[in-house]
Amino acid sequence: MRVAIIGAGPSGLAQLRAFQSAQEKGCEIPELVCYEKQADWGGLWNYTWRTGLDQHGEPVHGSMYRYLWSNGPKECLEFADYTFEEHFGKPIASYPPREVLWDYIKGRVEKADVRRYIRFNCPVRQITFNEDSEQFTVVAYDHESDVVTTELYDHVIVASGHFSTPNVPDFDGFDRFSGRILHAHDFRDALEFRGQDVLLVGSSYSAEDIGSQCYKYGARSITTSYRTRPMGFAFPDNWEEKPLLLKVDGNTAYFKDGTSRRVDAIILCTGYLHHFPFLDESLRLKTSNRLWPLNLYQGVVWENNPKLFYLGMQDQWYTFNMFDAQAWYARDVLLGRIALPDQAAMQRDSQAWRDREETLDTDESMIVFQGDYVRTLIDQTDYPSFDIDGVNKTFFMWEEHKHEDLMSFRDYSYRSLMTGTVAPRHHTRWLEAIDDSLEAYLTAPDEQSTPAPARQPVKAI
Ligand SMILES: Cc1cc2nc3c(=O)[nH]c(=O)nc-3n(C[C@H](O)[C@H](O)[C@H](O)COP(=O)(O)OP(=O)(O)OC[C@H]3O[C@@H](n4cnc5c(N)ncnc54)[C@H](O)[C@@H]3O)c2cc1C
Repeated sequence: MRVAIIGAGPSGLAQLRAFQSAQEKGCEIPELVCYEKQADWGGLWNYTWRTGLDQHGEPVHGSMYRYLWSNGPKECLEFADYTFEEHFGKPIASYPPREVLWDYIKGRVEKADVRRYIRFNCPVRQITFNEDSEQFTVVAYDHESDVVTTELYDHVIVASGHFSTPNVPDFDGFDRFSGRILHAHDFRDALEFRGQDVLLVGSSYSAEDIGSQCYKYGARSITTSYRTRPMGFAFPDNWEEKPLLLKVDGNTAYFKDGTSRRVDAIILCTGYLHHFPFLDESLRLKTSNRLWPLNLYQGVVWENNPKLFYLGMQDQWYTFNMFDAQAWYARDVLLGRIALPDQAAMQRDSQAWRDREETLDTDESMIVFQGDYVRTLIDQTDYPSFDIDGVNKTFFMWEEHKHEDLMSFRDYSYRSLMTGTVAPRHHTRWLEAIDDSLEAYLTAPDEQSTPAPARQPVKAI
């Protein structure tokens, strides 16, 4: 049996680790090929300074930026089979910067020795299914050898992510705006906006976090504009929320409430599209970013052709350990350990989840919903079970702390649901931690080989 995995981000790597874990326990596993269009693994966590097209002319996958720190407690995403304490050899604080989380993701798959399954610099161009042979044809482009490869597989697992193709609306006057307009996908370094009046269009994670970045690194003012619901945080004095942007004229932005303000730059935090240009029409998931996309049994199995699987396609409260739960589930379906019901039964099951999803009206209810989903998957495999109610409660505390103060919620510590250890407080408050390197994070300032840079004044300009 041959299995193609598309993408070596956290989801694709979870799939490799799931198979390796079965193999370690004496099970024979299929032949695996993981295609990865980037030069290294880790998906979005593998930072790139590039925007637009990459060195090969491929659309840049990365949407993460310098100075990005985990936007939720690490205790909520911890792998149940590889803890932070195991990786770092000591407990660490609850909101690690990107590089630290990337290191953690890599540690597990290095230990599992699964890099050999990955073909780097190999974007998948096309996947079709042949009804007669019941096999998939996967066409990929190998940039290293400059060769197009065409291979047959019995199963395909799509783990290509869905936070890379920006949703970019147009507003009246954008074509004549004299400042910079960019989507969050192309945001890399908040220092670029130091001293500027920045407008962020959107009210979700990107607006919240890029706004916080701009504040931390010295933007003069931040304005966020919402379409339906304000974020409603207690913002710093130079951060204002306004209803939807209507138009810009020169450097002036006009809002739905009749107000206006002069801005230097506009960052569109307007979300991402599920985009699978490499998949044949009959195989392609079409959904908005939501907790229960339809047509995926157990959130994973393509109901129209159960030889195809998708990982990580849901909107995400839970992340790494949810991808694990999905990967273990997909693995066990492939290994014949889990029998799938017929298509009608799969659809009924999915519809029941969707019906419940449509009743959710608070962040808390959405967290519980996704926790229930993760539990449902874990109960069916040998993925180590963990305290989902505890994770949910940690998410609730995080929500509370964020609403208390958006600029200090990352200074809190939480208890690991895997080891029971309470995370130590970080040596530097988030707002004052300018150097976010792995070394600076893991080492107290007086023990660092290069001293941390002096704190930049935040609102002094
Ligand atoms: C700005 C930002 C901040 C975030 N912050 C957090 C956070 O703090 N905490 C958290 O838990 N989650 C965060 N997330 C959520 C993030 O989605 C997950 O953490 C995680 O990266 C998803 O993993 P994935 O493997 O599903 O997708 P990705 O990480 O997107 O990985 C997909 C992989 O597939 C590859 N690929 C895509 N197309 C092809 C192709 N055609 N051929 C071959 N390879 C392909 C890509 O190169 C990539 O390596 C954030 C997301 C964004 C955008």
